Amino acid sequence: MTGTLYVVGFGPGHEDHITGRAKQALRESDYVIGYKTYMELVAPLIEGKEVISTGMSEEVSRAQAAVRQAERGKTVSVISSGDAGVYGMAGLVYEVLAEQGWKRDTGIRVEIIPGISAINSCASLLGAPIMHDSCTISLSDHLTPWELIAKRIDAAGAADFVIALYNPKSGRRTKQIEEAQRILLKYRNPETPVGLVKSAYRDREEVVMTTLRNMLDHEIGMLTTVVIGNSTTFFYEGLMITPRGYTRKYTLTEEKQPLRPHERLRPENEPWALHGGKNEAKRPLKELGLQALAAIEKKKNAPPAVKTIFEAAVSPGVVNKHFTPQQLIAISEAAGETGTIEYTPHHYVLLKTETSSPQPIIEKLKEAGLSLAPAGDVVTIKACDFCNGDKGDAIPYTEQLGRELGGLGVPKELRIGVNGCGMACYGAVNEDIGIVYRKGAFDLFLGAKVVSRTAHPGVYAAEGIPPEKVVPMLTRIVKEYRESGHPNERFFKYFKRVGEVEGFAHRDMPVPDIEPMPCGE
Ligand code: SAH
Repeated sequence: MTGTLYVVGFGPGHEDHITGRAKQALRESDYVIGYKTYMELVAPLIEGKEVISTGMSEEVSRAQAAVRQAERGKTVSVISSGDAGVYGMAGLVYEVLAEQGWKRDTGIRVEIIPGISAINSCASLLGAPIMHDSCTISLSDHLTPWELIAKRIDAAGAADFVIALYNPKSGRRTKQIEEAQRILLKYRNPETPVGLVKSAYRDREEVVMTTLRNMLDHEIGMLTTVVIGNSTTFFYEGLMITPRGYTRKYTLTEEKQPLRPHERLRPENEPWALHGGKNEAKRPLKELGLQALAAIEKKKNAPPAVKTIFEAAVSPGVVNKHFTPQQLIAISEAAGETGTIEYTPHHYVLLKTETSSPQPIIEKLKEAGLSLAPAGDVVTIKACDFCNGDKGDAIPYTEQLGRELGGLGVPKELRIGVNGCGMACYGAVNEDIGIVYRKGAFDLFLGAKVVSRTAHPGVYAAEGIPPEKVVPMLTRIVKEYRESGHPNERFFKYFKRVGEVEGFAHRDMPVPDIEPMPCGE
């Protein structure tokens, strides 16, 4: 007769964070074996069970007792806090079994039931600190030589891992955490965010946000997990956050816009990656490895910070199309040695420059009289030059549009074309939304398909809109699209899907029948 041995991780401590399988195992068990304090934490779940609770340093006898009972045909749960396989009882149980020659097929049935480990429960209380590569290191040198622990701290520090320190300190072990801090300060900025979580999801839970420099000024004990950020981790709203990648992209809206998924995948946006592309494939792996090592060595004292790219659409103005030489100099200076200045088809130059503080750049460009707008999925006002101001009646409305709608985030880039006379020579009818000033009022075009071989102008929706009504009307249309458009849905698609915008019906634009090419041509 052989019994069953469950090794159960019951999570941080609160019943809500115990898995269903763990509860089931406890329910099924005749015996529950574990450290005294843990028994109290799961008390409501183990009422009426035979309980074997032991002191802290009696793990081996706990594992042996559990195996003995299972061999007698009983169902036994050995419990660990967090996950039983992370500095818990799982390994010990298998060690005891291995010693007595246990076989999977014929011996007692063993099931390890996973639980939420402290690194995960504590991270959830801190924010999102372990988003990037991380490791756990136990500072307990009862069973592991300190020299080895120190070596691991050193390696994790050098390799910029987010680190969760388990067993950081006890009554007798107080120097280890000081030593860990000293080692990590060799590699990390003293201001590196550190989170201290004591008794996560238990009665006396405490969360402290501090820094690598100041962490020892706070209480750290047996029930604390110390989470140390990597070189990119930051505090925001009292939360500790590690970005998912090593590049952040800023545009003017202050929202930190990450690269969109398809952009991320382009090799030029991942200059740090080990690409298997055409050229890279020919380079011997060893060379790449050595390069990476050299990079790590070089950065030892100055670990990699998040690379931030600031980008903005720069133009002399919504109406003005003339750059002054001073403005061009200001743009060049903003780009510096490594930035780029791209001439786009949309009446602006796209400036991209690497910086972690975009504000001084923004101020310099504005001082030079340049107009700045966010780039990306925002509203852009694309106006004509009103024949250098000769036909300037619509200029005030255009500028108002620029002020009120320019740069507003939308599901997909939205260009509003404004042309100052019926010639519409700047192509307003071919923009997502177009308005053309004619005889003291505006004509409205909605939903041009701006690009592709099946591009078409917008639906000629209305004519003679009084000028004072045009800005509020476009504001309402943009607001509706902003709120109801699907992500990535360009305005023409939205218009077609909903069938009507601001009372104007959608009409399909004729798509010409194209004769197929004769074979062989
Ligand atoms: N098996 C457990 C770890 C046991 S080692 C797990 O997977 O979480 C004991 C250490 O775990 C403690 O010193 C502390 O660093 C950490 N720990 C466990 N439970 C915790 C909790 N609820 N809150 C904070 N830290 C905890």
